[in-house]
Amino acid sequence: SNPLYKTPAPDEYCQPDSSMHLQDRRANASIVVLVRNSELWGIMSSMKQLEDRFNRKFQYPYVFLNDKPFTQSFKHHIWALTNATVEFGLIPSDHWHQPSWIDEERASKSRDDMIKNDVIYGGSVSYRNMCRFNSGFFYRHELLQKYRYYWRVEPDIQLFCDVDYDPFLMMQDQNKVYGFTITLYEFPTTIPTLWDAVRSFIDANPDSVAPDNAMEFLSDDGGKSYSLCHCRLLHTATFSCVNENTWPVWSNFEIADLDFWRGEAYSKFFDYLDEQGGFYYERWGDAPVHSIGAALFAKKEQIHFFNDIGYRHDHFEHCPQGDVHTKGKCWCDPDKSLVSSDYQVYSCLYQYDKLLL
Ligand code: GDP
Ligand code: MN
Repeated sequence: SNPLYKTPAPDEYCQPDSSMHLQDRRANASIVVLVRNSELWGIMSSMKQLEDRFNRKFQYPYVFLNDKPFTQSFKHHIWALTNATVEFGLIPSDHWHQPSWIDEERASKSRDDMIKNDVIYGGSVSYRNMCRFNSGFFYRHELLQKYRYYWRVEPDIQLFCDVDYDPFLMMQDQNKVYGFTITLYEFPTTIPTLWDAVRSFIDANPDSVAPDNAMEFLSDDGGKSYSLCHCRLLHTATFSCVNENTWPVWSNFEIADLDFWRGEAYSKFFDYLDEQGGFYYERWGDAPVHSIGAALFAKKEQIHFFNDIGYRHDHFEHCPQGDVHTKGKCWCDPDKSLVSSDYQVYSCLYQYDKLLL
């Protein structure tokens, strides 16, 4: 295990296994789930694991969000899995749909081009709506106004380890704003002009950029170009080098501070990006937008790698190594050469490590 990651949590965040009552100190936090009715079984699988490995003891409330009303049957199945409070919210139409000022002809031409080039979700409007919503709107939903921290959960994820401490309190006490477990590359064809937009935003708003930020994660040349975790030592020699025209992002696992997104710097940044129309004229994802926002507007020590949370989403996985694996009673194979595990070729954990040196 990399000695750089000081993840083991202090005992004060721990909840004894046998305890049936809640810890006295709690964070103002909720588990946030954006999901479709059709994904019921996938989200139940995620939630069951989250309950068994963490929330059964901590009882943090859930907020489920959807652009369509949740069905009674959906709610019934979700309620059955937890004793914690669950709220179901409908997303306001203007937080979800393509805004009227987007030139639909241009947007649809871009979708057609992306379909021809086999870009993943390239032809999908609803995927773009989702990315824009996750980038700039979920934290404005009325059901989330009362909360400060959130843990984002998606359908069909795997949680490999017990989480015996309260990650929200850890975030709060240590003044963290953004926590991740996986980092990988964005598909460059989905964000051809995003970095130009970021640079012009920075030029116009130099004061919004945090001193001691994590720009180094994004760029090897202080922000002139977006970076590229270059070729590096691999566990196996079978992978070739990554195309340099790629972009490191923190992926969809998030434990983070809602007030950070609500703050002036990120709000201005999101509005600026939204005005460029790139969520529809290209296919800007919420992963790059959040990652750039966190890297620019937070201090680097406010970004936390949850090394102890074993997590899998699609083909991408983080499995803790060594003592951390044992302590968390993890069941993932720490040696398995998954495409994106930690130091494999599609992973950018090396980029993050630079921040700690
Ligand atoms: P991927 O992880 O990038 O492959 O995309 P997903 O299809 O998993 O979508 C990301 C998250 O947004 C998941 O939690 C989905 O359930 C949710 N999501 C995606 N599209 C929609 C949609 O049209 N409506 C709703 N309500 N949720 C969506
Ligand atoms: Mn997903």
